[in-house]
Amino acid sequence: MRIIFLGTSGAVPTKDRNHISIALIYEGEIILLDCGEGTQRQMVRAKISPMKVSKIFITHLHGDHFLGLFGLIQSMSFFGRESPLYIYGPKGIIRIVEIAKELSVYDIDFDLIPVEISDGFTVEEKNYKIITRLVDHSIETYSIIFEEKKGKKFDIEKAAALGLKPGPWFKALKEGKCIVYNGKLITPEMVLGEEKKGIRIVYTSDTRPTDRIANYIRDSILIHDATFDDNLRNEAYVKYHSTAKQAANVAKKYGAKYLFLIHVSSRYKDVTVLENEARNVFKNTYAAKDLMCIDIKKDNIIINYI
Ligand SMILES: [Zn+2]
Ligand SMILES: [Zn+2]
Repeated sequence: MRIIFLGTSGAVPTKDRNHISIALIYEGEIILLDCGEGTQRQMVRAKISPMKVSKIFITHLHGDHFLGLFGLIQSMSFFGRESPLYIYGPKGIIRIVEIAKELSVYDIDFDLIPVEISDGFTVEEKNYKIITRLVDHSIETYSIIFEEKKGKKFDIEKAAALGLKPGPWFKALKEGKCIVYNGKLITPEMVLGEEKKGIRIVYTSDTRPTDRIANYIRDSILIHDATFDDNLRNEAYVKYHSTAKQAANVAKKYGAKYLFLIHVSSRYKDVTVLENEARNVFKNTYAAKDLMCIDIKKDNIIINYI
């Protein structure tokens, strides 16, 4: 599993920061979380192909989070994309996709499928699921929660108690299939234990600190709005954003494993001030930077730059 920060800026881009977009790369599939202006150029810099993007989640309809859609769709069309593209977003996303189709000077020969999301909306795939939960911003805005599905643990003791010896039937049971062993029907429920822990990534999008997503944060990689430093907490409140310290408080309170600060205001040329402020509360904090790449390996992460 790899996360690439394609853009990390707040409302206004800077020389070093593009408008927001985060690429999740999982088993060859690319999922974009937000698609700010300039995302496709950042993808070129990150050496990832727009053709491998299968799903785009737009967290809310402030321009800095979705204006990159139009150019990206045009390029996909130009390159002859054929596979469908799902675009998830709040109310209004269907109209935006219609406009993208109307404006296009190229024929779009692939299916563009807009899907309206709501609080608790879930996309279920074989190996992962993605949940959208409402947060606390000035307009309808959703956080995006990615959860890897690892399946249930195989309980060796239960299997032994049933007289089951190791063999290919273990795999079948793990996959949820029933088997007949020595004339006895064995169902997966008889030998499987609790759910194995997979990777969980929580991207808050733009929000004040909120407990609406508290249940998802334990052991997660939390990517949290940190538009301001804590001296500007009143401004953060009025504008429905968070400070770096508030993001760290959320990470600490709900037991995140790592915290990445994102959506940084253009006033901060150097983000060390935000990083330090947050680290005083929550040690495993990093300020996300454009083209920062996180490889997730079991319980560890490796941070690199492309
Ligand atoms: Zn924003
Ligand atoms: Zn916003």
